[in-house]
Amino acid sequence: MNDTQFKAWRVAEQDGSYYGSEQVLGIKDLPEGEVLIKVSHSSLNYKDALSASGNKGVTRSFPHTPGIDAAGEVIESATGAPAAGSKVIVTGYDLGMNTDGGFGEYIRVPSAWCVPMPAGWEAETAMIYGTAGLTAGLCVQKLLRMGAGPEQGRVAVSGASGAVGSVAVELLAKLGFDVVAISGKADHAESLKKLGATEVVGRDVLADNKKPMLRPEFANAVDTVGGSPLAELLKQIKPGGSVSCCGLVAGPQLQTTVLPFILRGVNLLGVDSVEIPLADKEAVWKKFAEDWKCPTIEASAKRIGRTDLDDALSAFLKGESAGKIVLDHKA
Ligand code: NDP
Repeated sequence: MNDTQFKAWRVAEQDGSYYGSEQVLGIKDLPEGEVLIKVSHSSLNYKDALSASGNKGVTRSFPHTPGIDAAGEVIESATGAPAAGSKVIVTGYDLGMNTDGGFGEYIRVPSAWCVPMPAGWEAETAMIYGTAGLTAGLCVQKLLRMGAGPEQGRVAVSGASGAVGSVAVELLAKLGFDVVAISGKADHAESLKKLGATEVVGRDVLADNKKPMLRPEFANAVDTVGGSPLAELLKQIKPGGSVSCCGLVAGPQLQTTVLPFILRGVNLLGVDSVEIPLADKEAVWKKFAEDWKCPTIEASAKRIGRTDLDDALSAFLKGESAGKIVLDHKA
């Protein structure tokens, strides 16, 4: 097996710039680890775009194979669990950050990173959801655990056309919520309505506003953008409502006052999909395979090959990416 060669989309550094290209590697080039996996599919995430553009907060050294998500078949297993021949999903932990990731046809990882594929699912389906879907599921789960319900009023989703946002829109709509999709892409209003949004509004509803509090518009929210839009969203949450916060495309800074928290009892809920226990990931994957299935997301996901990665990752950095994108190593 060690002599086997495979293809990977690898990023190299040259004079401070970063370039991705297809390379041929050997299994022996992979990092040490317990489980060797033949990856059939990966999924594209904002973090992959950061890694591929040389963001040292994500990936310290190059050359490197990005891809924070991978799904495929176990080829060798030092621990026996997962067993050779079984199908698995690997997302988060260090995959694709400083451990070669799913943009290569093989990965080698600790067994503690491997979730068994839910019954009836194929690798491609798992990667349609990917880390973004998992994160959307965790955001919704946190809202539900705080007691959020459709009867309380409209739920907002920011960055609605993005990978996390689009899954959150369809899942919340499926659960019976009135979903207000907040999106900067006017031409995506129709596709957001197909996902189940009852209203689509522009990002201007979260534009900087000097007032310390605003009219309470939303019972609860999923925020995927962070920065000043999140601060503005907090001012518009109804008493006792909650906001799940998972992203930073609008910036990592959060400048707010304590007023939403002490005047309206608003809850700000942090969501991490990367370092949480494997069992928590497994529970959300099972839900997506069963009662949280999002048929529109599954039908509308875009399939790409390794040669399309450059353009697809650049779109993330420009805020132009939309919906879910799956990397098929056979494409
Ligand atoms: P995408 O790029 O697919 O989506 C982000 C969306 O945010 C865009 O499509 C756009 O939607 C909107 N947007 C982009 N730039 C801006 C801006 N400057 N101001 C306001 N809105 C903007 O990314 P993902 O959905 O994959 O990820 C979203 C965030 O979640 C990222 O920050 C990512 O790092 C984070 N994340 C966190 C995870 C965790 O474990 N906490 C896991 C996965 C992702 P529109 O045009 O519709 O407004």
